[in-house]
Amino acid sequence: MTLPKTTAELRALDAAHHLHPFSDTKALNEEGSRIIVKADGVWLTDSDGNRILDGMSGLWCVNVGYGREEIVEAVATQMRELPYYNTFFKTTHKPAIELAARLAELTPPQFNRVFFTGSGSESNDTVIKLVRRYFDIKEQPKKKIIISRRNAYHGSTVAAGSLGGMSPMHDQSAVIADVVHIAQPYFWGEARQGETPDEFGLRTARALESTIDALGEDRIAAFIAEPIQGAGGVIVPPASYWPEIARICRERDILFISDEVICGFGRTGSWFGCETFGTEPDILVMAKGITSGYMPLGGVMVADRVVDVLLQGGDFNHGYTYSGHPAACAAALANLDIMLREKLVERVANDVGPYLKAQWSTLAEHPLVGEAPMMGLVGALELTPDKIGRTKFADVGKVGTMARDFSFQNNLVMRAVRDRLIIAPPLVISHGEIDELVARARKTLDATHAEAK
Ligand code: PLP
Repeated sequence: MTLPKTTAELRALDAAHHLHPFSDTKALNEEGSRIIVKADGVWLTDSDGNRILDGMSGLWCVNVGYGREEIVEAVATQMRELPYYNTFFKTTHKPAIELAARLAELTPPQFNRVFFTGSGSESNDTVIKLVRRYFDIKEQPKKKIIISRRNAYHGSTVAAGSLGGMSPMHDQSAVIADVVHIAQPYFWGEARQGETPDEFGLRTARALESTIDALGEDRIAAFIAEPIQGAGGVIVPPASYWPEIARICRERDILFISDEVICGFGRTGSWFGCETFGTEPDILVMAKGITSGYMPLGGVMVADRVVDVLLQGGDFNHGYTYSGHPAACAAALANLDIMLREKLVERVANDVGPYLKAQWSTLAEHPLVGEAPMMGLVGALELTPDKIGRTKFADVGKVGTMARDFSFQNNLVMRAVRDRLIIAPPLVISHGEIDELVARARKTLDATHAEAK
């Protein structure tokens, strides 16, 4: 068949054959998808020629921006030489060897080994098996429970979706046993009257301790968390939260898993979010920014103290056809070269991060905005009908979705989680593009405010 040319024809073909992820496909087909045809830097172009500022780096992944020939070349060269081979059964290849060694260098010192996967979800499935295997080898087989947090997102396979705390996902799919969810550190939405951020942070962190006590430390295997909850609404925890969690993890015989699928590779102004918040994970989960989304790749870094036990256990019966895919590893290596050469992590910490934070925080004065947190290059706008009383809209998600749609029509990609707008632009965004992003976000707020009254 020949692919039709017009937007209307392409939409009709998409509607006829394509089931979209996390979508109401029927409603989407009535409205019609926007067809993205090319991209460069922080800009997308759609099939009607509109230029759209991508405030979400695709799905929080295009850290080095679009259009990087260097990554394309690295992938093409690798594909010509060795397009595929696996890392099962006593084989390996150069790109996987080099990437594993580079990741050992880049990640905090406790990490020297990586298990490759094809995505964040596969990484978190891997984590569940690794953690259980670890305690089985240690002859502590009762230690099975993983504690996670409400509204966490750890992926969408059955196991990763179970680790996550998204009730709309749990409602539609079977969940695995032995996952328990505790509160998220969402100060704006969940603090008690008169509670300070630090009091709230401590109280929320201590839910981990009380849950371990209630269920029995001999049954708890691990605690998993994103440094900043991403898909849950960009929940930046109060300053007291992570030190208290770190204390609890140190004092208890549990593993701490930092899911860095979003926060890894510079997003928060350090290479990894655990460095921004000063925690010391035993397992670090990565995907997305590892290749800036140019190729699908994920990985699980495992700390030496855990590896030492796993190595006593013989076969680990787990792996994916595309674990350590050579072309994906080549993309990751080229991506890391760019990040290091252009000092993108430092750029987020010292330049564009503070600049965006300063501009973004002016939006907190808007009558529709309850708070406007920003850390590194990831932030949110909490929309509220009453910023003084900190109330939420009765019809949860309606105003957020309206705002997201206004934004998209106005050629800025923001995402909505309930009534919270979120952004995570590419790390290469310029000051001028930040000004444009904030101006478009303000326009979105004005339009939404006028409509939501
Ligand atoms: N973990 C976190 C923190 C994520 O944000 C995501 C995806 O957004 C995942 C895991 C799942 O990654 P993937 O979609 O690559 O399976």
